[in-house]
Amino acid sequence: MIVMKFGGTSVESAAAIQRVAGIVRARGDRRPVVVVSAMGKTTNKLLAIASAAISGDRREYLRQIHDLRDFHSREARMVVPLADRTELDRTLDDHFQELTELVKGLAVLGELTPRSIDAISSYGERLSSYIVTLAFRHFGIPAVHLDSRRVILTDNRHTQAAPLYSETYTRLAATVPAMAEHSVVVMGGFIGSNRDGVTTTLGRGGSDFTAAIVGAGIAAEEIQIWTDVDGMLTADPTILPGGHRVKLISFAEAAELAYFGAKVLHPATLLPAMEKNIPVLILNSRRPDVPGTRIVAESIACQNVVKSIACKRKITLLNIHSTRMLMAHGFLRRIFEVFDRFETPVDMVATSEISVSLTIDNSERLESIAGELRQFADVESERDQAIVCLVGDNIRDTPGVARRVFGALHGVNVRMISQGASLLNFSFVVAEADLRRTVEALHTEFFADLDPAVFEAAAPAGPAVHA
Ligand code: ADP
Ligand code: ASP
Ligand code: MG
Repeated sequence: MIVMKFGGTSVESAAAIQRVAGIVRARGDRRPVVVVSAMGKTTNKLLAIASAAISGDRREYLRQIHDLRDFHSREARMVVPLADRTELDRTLDDHFQELTELVKGLAVLGELTPRSIDAISSYGERLSSYIVTLAFRHFGIPAVHLDSRRVILTDNRHTQAAPLYSETYTRLAATVPAMAEHSVVVMGGFIGSNRDGVTTTLGRGGSDFTAAIVGAGIAAEEIQIWTDVDGMLTADPTILPGGHRVKLISFAEAAELAYFGAKVLHPATLLPAMEKNIPVLILNSRRPDVPGTRIVAESIACQNVVKSIACKRKITLLNIHSTRMLMAHGFLRRIFEVFDRFETPVDMVATSEISVSLTIDNSERLESIAGELRQFADVESERDQAIVCLVGDNIRDTPGVARRVFGALHGVNVRMISQGASLLNFSFVVAEADLRRTVEALHTEFFADLDPAVFEAAAPAGPAVHA
């Protein structure tokens, strides 16, 4: 069996779903289990509906629900067999009626809890998985739908739930292989349920994680993540277009890239795959013949020091300074306790004799955190910073990486550096305004020559073609 996960853009329309059917059909002999995201930007739209509800804008949220139903209905009707149209309409009616009731309830309460956010955002994957199942049948693929909430059991941390692995694996092993015997099993990503049967979600971008959990639970031979790029690229294409495709990369390297912002993989995706040693592939659903990126357990011999550059934007940098820190123990513990109490993860840390610099991604509770820290230290915070992270196995034993980085970056003010915490990454902080030129300079420095065993060079950008 293989798991094939298709992201939002890969199922954004009838035409996209038809492409997906072709890709799945061509791999039918490998007994695919398909995991799908919500169609296009549906999750964002559901969250916008929830916000409109609590702001009391009845006309607005009703209009948005109506539009979302229209969109699903329009695209689905083009890929659902005539014989199934009545069932399709009834199911869409049921789902959207339920959603409308839920949203009206929220509007009355005027309050949005993590639990109700999960209830609302789950509709995206519930609808897409159902529609894709019917579409597969339309295109001649025997398919069965499995409600992921029956098999993906999670803890209670709504909007960021973690799977309860052992029970989830037991449920998956007991259900999926038997269903996959004669049909393609289709499941929604992102969603699960807690022990009380209440709907939870695995966090934004969590469908990749679902695919990996399912893959591990059924001991799949491969987990394929189908998306809208040719694979893991040497730079985040939203910051620097034209990066090269990385053909082969290790779990450890890819996990580090995902953690430091390479959105192409949800950061937790590789844990279950690594544990069960299942290769993960990143593939492009618009260009299925491109071999993509293969992520494997063993490290890969490579002439280049760096495999890829990841970035995390909208970071806040905090400088915490106290003369009381000099020769005192327990100071770091006090600092980290504050972040712990406000449930705010710290990404990067650097310390000196009397100061600590650190970065946080989530600055929602920054004011309260700074207030507490000010009781025993001076605190300065700076928003609009970015972490740049170079990743490659060879960083660990190649001298002079820092010299090459800073040599390439003349003129850019580097705010904080971290090396050594993980032997395969070198990260630092710059102002977001400097991000693009930083990545461009590093990309030129580290990818001027490419090891052909590991990289596929991007086609040089040709002159613009005007229609
Ligand atoms: P999906 O909806 O298929 O899950 P995502 O938008 O979550 O797709 O992830 C794919 C996107 O990840 C790409 O379109 C690209 O903009 C972004 N991305 C960031 N860093 C990288 C990288 N190093 N390589 C490839 N894509 C990257
Ligand atoms: N639909 C969810 C999101 O947009 C999960 C996913 O696409 O991976 O975050
Ligand atoms: Mg994604």
